[in-house]
Amino acid sequence: MAILYHTTMTARPARILHLKEGVLGQQNDKPRSITVALSGNPNAGKTTLFNNLTGARQHVGNWPGVTVEKKEGTCKYGDYRFEVVDLPGTYSLTAYSLEEVIVREYITGEKPDIVVDIVDASNIERNLYLTTQLMELGVPVIIALNMMDVAESRGIDINIELLSELLGLPVVPIVGLRNRGTDDLKCVIAAVVNGEVKFRGVHVNYGQEVEEEIDKLESAIEDERPALGEYLGKYSTRWLAVKLLEEDEAIMEVLSGHLEADSSLFEQQEKSLAHLYSIFGEDVETVIVDYRYGFVAGTAREAVKREIEEPVSTSDRIDNILTNRILGFPFFAFFMWSMFFLTFYLGKIPMDWIERFFGGLGNFAATNLTSPVWLQSLLVDGVIGGVGAVLVFLPQIFIMFLCISLLEDTGYMARAAFIMDRVMHWLGLHGKSFIPMIMGFGCNVPAVMATRTLESEKDRNITILINPLMSCTARLPVYALFTAAFFTAHQGTVTFSLYLLGIILAVIMAKLFRRFLFPGEAEPFVMELPPYRWPTLKGTFIHMWERGSLFLRKAGTIILAGSVVVWMLSYFPSGVEYGSSASLVGKLGRLLEPLVRPLGFDWRAAVALLFGIVAKEIVVSTFGTILGVGEDQEAISGRLQGVFTPLTAYAFMAFTLIYIPCLATVAVIKKETGSWRLAAFSVLYTLTLAWIVAFLIYRIGLLCGLGG
Ligand code: GDP
Ligand code: MG
Repeated sequence: MAILYHTTMTARPARILHLKEGVLGQQNDKPRSITVALSGNPNAGKTTLFNNLTGARQHVGNWPGVTVEKKEGTCKYGDYRFEVVDLPGTYSLTAYSLEEVIVREYITGEKPDIVVDIVDASNIERNLYLTTQLMELGVPVIIALNMMDVAESRGIDINIELLSELLGLPVVPIVGLRNRGTDDLKCVIAAVVNGEVKFRGVHVNYGQEVEEEIDKLESAIEDERPALGEYLGKYSTRWLAVKLLEEDEAIMEVLSGHLEADSSLFEQQEKSLAHLYSIFGEDVETVIVDYRYGFVAGTAREAVKREIEEPVSTSDRIDNILTNRILGFPFFAFFMWSMFFLTFYLGKIPMDWIERFFGGLGNFAATNLTSPVWLQSLLVDGVIGGVGAVLVFLPQIFIMFLCISLLEDTGYMARAAFIMDRVMHWLGLHGKSFIPMIMGFGCNVPAVMATRTLESEKDRNITILINPLMSCTARLPVYALFTAAFFTAHQGTVTFSLYLLGIILAVIMAKLFRRFLFPGEAEPFVMELPPYRWPTLKGTFIHMWERGSLFLRKAGTIILAGSVVVWMLSYFPSGVEYGSSASLVGKLGRLLEPLVRPLGFDWRAAVALLFGIVAKEIVVSTFGTILGVGEDQEAISGRLQGVFTPLTAYAFMAFTLIYIPCLATVAVIKKETGSWRLAAFSVLYTLTLAWIVAFLIYRIGLLCGLGG
């Protein structure tokens, strides 16, 4: 059985009734004892439910050492004897109040068989906040959705089935005041203990940055396992890691008792806190709280409908527009358009400066460094020509990363995913798959890593496999170079068409992969909608820099190395005309040429594509180098016209877009999926697809008379 839920109070699923008979049927002399802890906000109805469950069989005492009342009672259900504990009411599980510590210690220390979280249905958002924390403790949690009568009278319509699916746990509606639903609850408790209910283990995702630090802290905790010993068994490492980020006092005190003050765990904690503070400009605890509320907001937005919408916060008001089913789309389109507008038009200005700088540098080297000839050629054709041809795109790439960082840091990205959820479902994917796709416009490497937020492995694999079809910034230099040379008047339109081509292919491939490789349905799960925040200048720049600087490093390392290799192959054997078909690169190209001949490409294209496997920018630097014209874009354009026609140039751009994700992406696919087969598959399918698409473009173009 997957998930147990009730759709209405009266029409109970036959499955539950059947189960109940089964349980009651096996009467036994020795009832099995089960501990059931009741947790929930103050006034959610715990004591009422407790009385309904246990009747007169109660015992009132105190929690050890404190004067907080502890109520215990028992109740029989078929084979079972439930030992029910009424925990103190709390809104949260931080260590700020005595009640919170009691609840937390009881659940982690005594490990009840099941925690029943009493949620006030008339106040569901506030109550679910505690639920997000109970779910993290690693014990089975089920929700008793109380005060259904109040919710109904206030016109609050809760889709219980969906709520249960989103949270990955059973939800049982009850009306404590009238003792309704109590039997259902007992029945579900028994089913959980019988192992008939699957928990999906949903937890709040705290966003990529925080999750990365959680990972680091978790491994630091594992390193301290010998010293922590028993203590570790009590808590899950993830929970401890989150508490370390929250700087939870109670946990810090205990950890300090077990570990040396200079433990690497505390060191990691400081590092993580400082890193996150620099990004968010706020306490990590605040960020974590925001994500929990975001989880609740996302859940409520999907599963709860109100007759009268009453926006409570500014964030809610903005969301009523931005995540509106209709209005959301034009806003999204506008944001995307702005991102591309800024990248391409604003980026042009500093791009011209850099181009002039490399132009000057090339001329300087050419005039002042006349001997030895090979050195001059290496610097002018190889290094400045190759690396310079790519570095001119630095501003555009940084602007693109800046925009993506802004979308993420303001919280808008989560909304985009939310409104795209239905579209993505049509693709057999979940809205959460949409975020990596937008990030893919920046760079496919962090985008593949961002798929970690997807819970289902199938969804994740599909999202990863289609990601390289999103035109990352490394394709930008290729599009820019070729559109400038062949589509001068329609540069923008042609570039846009390539982005679109990638998206369309991603859609088609997603459908195919879902159908043939990873059949099934996208699992429903909560999309966190944390409150909007003003991004801090520093945080956004750190974000942009972290990703953009990778490009810089790439230019200084593999692109430089690639350019030097291509230069050597073009220069030698000595005496041949530079970059001619008699040079080494020419021979290599001739060898590969038959493979790309049907696409209308010649040997130079073949070589550029071969080296471009390392990084797509190398396609451009290779042309910069082979064509032997330094960094001068106009001169490269002129020579390219000798190599391509507009038709083959377009087919070539399409090929470059689709074929083989760069080495770094293939490596991260292997790392994230842990599968060589998937990594190899990503290479093979994209290569095949690129060939087919380029072939079709070329052949159909020829048929339409576009060959000239
Ligand atoms: P606790 O603080 O969680 O122990 O909550 P209590 O059990 O003391 O209940 C708080 C108040 O809510 C009491 O006045 C109850 O009578 C009332 N109450 C509990 N369950 C329901 C319900 O399902 N419907 C309504 N209308 N009131 C309820
Ligand atoms: Mg009470």
